[in-house]
Amino acid sequence: MNQRLRRLIAAGSAAMCAMAPMGGCSNDEGSKPPAAKAAQPGRFASPNPGSVNVYWIQAPEGLVLVDTSRTPADARKAIAEIRKTGRPVAAILLTHSHPDHVGGAGAFAEAFPRAPIHASRATDKAMREDGRRFYPLARSANPGFPAKVTYADRVFEDGAPLQVGGLRLVTATFAEGESDTATVYHRADTGDLFSGDLAGSKVTPALIEGNSCGWLQNLDRLGRRFSAAGTMYPGHGAPGPARALIDEQRRYLQRFRGLVRPAVAPGSAGGRTVTSGEQRSIIAEMERTHPGHPPVADLSTIAQENVRAVARELAAEDPAKTPAACSDEARDGTNGLLAPVSAYVGAVNDRNLDALAGAFAADAELIDVGRRFTGRAAIRAWAENEVIGGRLTVTRVAENRPGHQRLLVRFAPGGSGGFDAYYAFTVNGSSITRAELTYAD
Ligand SMILES: [Zn+2]
Repeated sequence: MNQRLRRLIAAGSAAMCAMAPMGGCSNDEGSKPPAAKAAQPGRFASPNPGSVNVYWIQAPEGLVLVDTSRTPADARKAIAEIRKTGRPVAAILLTHSHPDHVGGAGAFAEAFPRAPIHASRATDKAMREDGRRFYPLARSANPGFPAKVTYADRVFEDGAPLQVGGLRLVTATFAEGESDTATVYHRADTGDLFSGDLAGSKVTPALIEGNSCGWLQNLDRLGRRFSAAGTMYPGHGAPGPARALIDEQRRYLQRFRGLVRPAVAPGSAGGRTVTSGEQRSIIAEMERTHPGHPPVADLSTIAQENVRAVARELAAEDPAKTPAACSDEARDGTNGLLAPVSAYVGAVNDRNLDALAGAFAADAELIDVGRRFTGRAAIRAWAENEVIGGRLTVTRVAENRPGHQRLLVRFAPGGSGGFDAYYAFTVNGSSITRAELTYAD
């Protein structure tokens, strides 16, 4: 263990430092960081579940804080870290009205009475109205959420630049996406972008507002508006390159929508309603491709709520009017697959025989160019001999009906160049009931 790490642990801030951007511990006064590092914002991530970030930006006249954590108890942990910098707090900024970002505002106001809390007009309004009744919900989910929400002291016009702590920040307001309204803060001199929940980093987002299409459009706008941004500091998860985090968030949402869409097709297992089997396979597919993504909310049923909310949204969406940003058009070739079909493709490429067999119903039937395999055990044996070790690439979805998809694929068995084939799948809820594989000529 090196000298610096020992000091940090002695200071009780190792956890905070481990979570600091780029592994830096720039705000620990014991570590005396070089000047270049001192400009890097500090970060406190509250414990899981539902970990949320508080940032502190080094400004000429003190620290400028972004967001306040979910509860006063979490806020006090962040405050203890912030105090270690020995610098005064000049201002506190809010990104949006969600409980996990404003619940600690009262504790910050108490700790730093001279630092005004700033919010955009739209965020201030959203907090005061709480149209979705999120604050009572947060209170019932977590008794630590304050009985009374602390509002902003200073309200700025949406999109107006902000002068705080000797720092000039560009702001932009976004509507109806992850939240009904959201503000991002951009520091042009460093390229730092404080994005709130417009993009998270390796987390399971809350889609409960059923506005995934609005969110996708916001991401496009965010990327265009701040194309020069360097590091993005998200509300949840670790900071990273802005472009990569935006792309990652976009892919997550597109994949989620692509998995839910077939489950709300009129002729699918439950018609417009997502059956519990469909829900299970969608969640399992998301977990397979996004493993270890902790939920952003302290809500054990968030995965199910997300499916329900996006299902409602997609069922109401008019495909003719869906903006390009929200199309399921595959950027990676696999969007829009039925969840069990997606699970099959994933299992082949992950060389996961159990997952492959698990994608099929117990009495499923598989026909491989005329050879018939009946039952999961027979399909498993076939896959073990002929499939596992190969690489399966989806070229396109050639036919798409509720509960049925025919894919043009390229299958390359281990060590071979591969061949083109059609894979026709029939799906019932969470399982493939029939698959027929034929050569494409
Ligand atoms: Zn959040």
